[in-house]
Amino acid sequence: MPFDASPLLRPELHELRAYAPGPAAGIEIRLDANEAPPVDSPRLRELVSEAVASVPLERYPDARALALKEKIALRTGARIEDLLVGSGSDEIIALLATALARPRGKGAPQASFLAPTPSFVMYRVTARAHGVRPVEVPLDAAWDLDAGMMKKAIDAFSPNVVFIATPNNPTGNRMSDDRLADVCEHAKDALVVLDEAYVDYAGASLRSFRARFPNVAIMRTLSKVGLAALRVGWLEADAGLVAEMDKARQPFNVSATSQAIAAAVLGTAWEEIGAHVAKVVVERARLSSRIAALGDFEVTPSAANFVWVKTPRPAEETFRALLEEKILVRSFHASGGRLARQIRITIGTPAENDRLVEALSACA
Ligand code: PMP
Repeated sequence: MPFDASPLLRPELHELRAYAPGPAAGIEIRLDANEAPPVDSPRLRELVSEAVASVPLERYPDARALALKEKIALRTGARIEDLLVGSGSDEIIALLATALARPRGKGAPQASFLAPTPSFVMYRVTARAHGVRPVEVPLDAAWDLDAGMMKKAIDAFSPNVVFIATPNNPTGNRMSDDRLADVCEHAKDALVVLDEAYVDYAGASLRSFRARFPNVAIMRTLSKVGLAALRVGWLEADAGLVAEMDKARQPFNVSATSQAIAAAVLGTAWEEIGAHVAKVVVERARLSSRIAALGDFEVTPSAANFVWVKTPRPAEETFRALLEEKILVRSFHASGGRLARQIRITIGTPAENDRLVEALSACA
């Protein structure tokens, strides 16, 4: 007899589904997860081997991740006491849902998180799994922030955290700076997390917002620049908040090998990563114009390592046609509405992108 745990489980779990990556069997080209192509650098590989070899396997990792934080601070200009390192930014989101979950809406029994939609799904999913109410405000017709509606939602729900990804996933565009500033200003009592997962591809960071708005935090990750396997992300926020969140963090949340590799890469191989990012940016321009040249597809100008494409036919048809060619992309047809014809394609290697364009041309 299986154990029936349903009376014990958080009811929200009933509506959630476990994260399931797309079909892997038979896929030759994976352009579905916004990873970068492999970093082609012997120097980087050497550095990684040395970092791994330096890890004392019998010891727990450094619970404070100090060496890694020092390198993050060096690269970004952040202060060490403002940094919280997580097992990917996914863990940071979960820590926010654990720590910043005091019910505060007018008579509300629950804390709430606010985010635009479409955006990164984990804001919603993580909130639900932690008993936090997710509130979503649609982006405008150009996929930019609807500052007016965001401000109304802030007034109505008093969210604990406002998440804004810029560049945004899945739409690839940056949010307008003036609209962001407007929302940060209005959400004085909430923590506004500017999720810069794709900032390396965007050119400009919004770190300067932290000096203008004390309620702003910056979230970053190494996952999008060729280091997704490490699971290293971080939050730069007010030192007092970071100290409180540290109490809710598992002490050894980032493995010693990941800390060592990430510190080594940030410390001495960041130029290699920069060169890799630059190549992807060149490919982004080439792929965007080639897809647009097919005529029936609309490409939203991207500041990230993927493109957001409107398909001439229902997105599911394009998705399936590409699957036939052993190419995996992300389709948003299941969301319906204005997403019914949208697919998201991660920038791959030049050869992968060429095969993708060839396959797409047959779907026009
Ligand atoms: N934020 C955004 C906007 C993302 O797209 C992703 C990855 N899909 C993440 C955060 C999570 O990144 P990670 O957990 O790998 O650091």
